[in-house]
Amino acid sequence: RRKRLELVRGLPSATKDGKAVEIFANIGNPDNLPQVLANDAEGIGLFRSEFLYLGRTDYPTEEEQFEAYKKTVQALPGKKVVIRTLDIGADKKVDYFNLAEEENPALGMRAIRICLTRPELFKTQLRALCRASAFGKIAVMFPMIISVKEIRRAKELLQEVRQDLDRRRIAYDKDMEIGIMIETPAAAIMSDDLAKEVDFFSIGSNDLTQYTLAIDRQQTQLDSFFDAHHPAVLRLIGQTIANGHQAGIWVGICGELGADLSLTETFLRMGVDELSVSPQSVLPLRDTVRSLDLSK
Ligand code: PEP
Ligand code: MG
Repeated sequence: RRKRLELVRGLPSATKDGKAVEIFANIGNPDNLPQVLANDAEGIGLFRSEFLYLGRTDYPTEEEQFEAYKKTVQALPGKKVVIRTLDIGADKKVDYFNLAEEENPALGMRAIRICLTRPELFKTQLRALCRASAFGKIAVMFPMIISVKEIRRAKELLQEVRQDLDRRRIAYDKDMEIGIMIETPAAAIMSDDLAKEVDFFSIGSNDLTQYTLAIDRQQTQLDSFFDAHHPAVLRLIGQTIANGHQAGIWVGICGELGADLSLTETFLRMGVDELSVSPQSVLPLRDTVRSLDLSK
């Protein structure tokens, strides 16, 4: 098996009949870069930036974040690196954020909700990210979106950061792609409207499944009720891809489902453009993609 996987290293991720898909890797911080390179990922589809905030006693500075993002793009010359803005809250708690205790943290103050409530915190991250975009192909992605209004507000704050950088004559990539995660049923259902606001979608199947089935992703006691292949989730994924394509944007999947080889054919038939998986899943996924023939 290992030897077989070695054979697909460097080969295109395309089916026998020529449907190509990009196979990217998910990472938490630059320490994961050796695995990304060792497994021949074609880019990074999900940099979970909250890992830069975890396990510390205070906020990471703009400089620390800039260095982490810059190091990441520089390790992958010419390849895309999708950085997800802070997704703290719910299962990822950090003391120094002083977030209030909540009955239902998964439905509470998390991710983009914290960022839009604390714009200075958000802008520090966006500044680091924009500065790093001068050194490679960075894309920014906002998590836990439920509405057009949130996207517009996030883009306004990004615009303020860019104007500030212009005034200070600091370089950044003016064409940096802006995307959102589709990980709430609201976002999937409204994906036709949301697609008009962004350059890409990345489907977060972990949270999309949790919120669609109303089953806590951490709660193993409910395993007998949980169905990772629930048709409601697959239907939402299919609709999201179709709506994204209708608006001319690319659509990826960055949740665990993207690495589920029993669904690869289904996702390719839906037209998915990119699958972002853990580094060790890249070669098995490419091997599976190359074994498929969608003309049959
Ligand atoms: C997801 O929800 O599917 C996702 C990729 O984000 P995370 O697992 O970090 O919540
Ligand atoms: Mg998520």
